[in-house]
Amino acid sequence: MKFPFIDLQAQRAVIADDIDAALKRVLEHGQFILGPEVTQFEEQLAAFEGGGHTVSCANGTDAIILPLKAWGVGPGDTVFCPSWTYAATAEAIAVIGAVPYFVDVDPDTYNLCPKSLRAAIQKSQNAKAIIAVDLFGQPANYPELRKIADEFGLKLMADSAQGMGCRLGGKAPIDWADVVTTSFFPAKPLGCYGDGGAMLTRDEDLKEQLLSLRFHGRATAPGDHAKIGLNSRLDTMQAAILIEKLNIFEDEIKARNRIAKRYTDALKSNILRTPKVIEGGVSTWAQYSIEVPNRDVVMAGMRAADIPVAAYYPLPTHMQTAYKNFPISSDGLPNTMAAKDVIMALPMHAYLKPQDQDAVIETLLGLV
Ligand SMILES: *Cc1c(COP(=O)(O)O)cnc(C)c1O
Repeated sequence: MKFPFIDLQAQRAVIADDIDAALKRVLEHGQFILGPEVTQFEEQLAAFEGGGHTVSCANGTDAIILPLKAWGVGPGDTVFCPSWTYAATAEAIAVIGAVPYFVDVDPDTYNLCPKSLRAAIQKSQNAKAIIAVDLFGQPANYPELRKIADEFGLKLMADSAQGMGCRLGGKAPIDWADVVTTSFFPAKPLGCYGDGGAMLTRDEDLKEQLLSLRFHGRATAPGDHAKIGLNSRLDTMQAAILIEKLNIFEDEIKARNRIAKRYTDALKSNILRTPKVIEGGVSTWAQYSIEVPNRDVVMAGMRAADIPVAAYYPLPTHMQTAYKNFPISSDGLPNTMAAKDVIMALPMHAYLKPQDQDAVIETLLGLV
């Protein structure tokens, strides 16, 4: 490839000295598990998202599992989620013995469709929670989803693994969701240099439970364990890296939005379907995904021209081997089924050079 799909080294060049110094500090103080950087990062991320508490953990999948456990969700319970997401969303539900119930997405935003969700809830049993996903970086329709959650007495979780930093009407998903979860997998908009994750909440009691559950369910009394939890902590080294990355995150989100606009301006008047962001929304552009007929031919053409592209997701979760026996909304998920064959993601990161972006655009326009 002429250049990478996501260029993590270009980002590193901006903050390399700061990261080296931060890692050296950790190596010297030696508190590798829950060292001071972990708390510092948790506080800074909570502030970045407009207040509340952050509890970090080992990855974005555990970040979904831990609040479900705190809410007592388990065998026999139903949790609603989109099929059109990374498999980890449904995996976190199924791995604790609950049933993931797949819901369709809105055709414009690819985020949870309130109508499909309502249909699913009405047909389900033991409904406990809704997991919305901020797919490709843009916020789900939280005002609508909050209404539905309240109407049916369900918890609302925001899986913001791809959307950390996204906004709706200037507010973060934590303004609506009972808990926001995220992943610091290197390729996510806010990524570290390994695995990492976090949960954000304004619920003091939930925060306390999460602090215990991520640490084997330990109790306050020494030696006692009150719950069966996980060993799921963010490494101090990763926290130290994330502190440096959070410092430049706001600028990176702006850069991603500039680059997204540049793609859209160049592509929108052609036969391509460019991304639509929810009204009042700001995306962090984890992916810039367009729809093209003959997607597989176009993708092969891009790759032949040495331009990296990807299809997220070729198989919706409800069609995958491990998930095909779980229930789906009675509408049959038509928007999910339509998107899977035409979606294609273009190179997107905060440091994409104009000349590289031009090469993507020119090659693409030559193929469609
Ligand atoms: C990446 C991702 C996850 C899982 O995060 P990990 O840190 O890899 O465990 C969960 N949900 C979505 C939507 C993701 O994109």
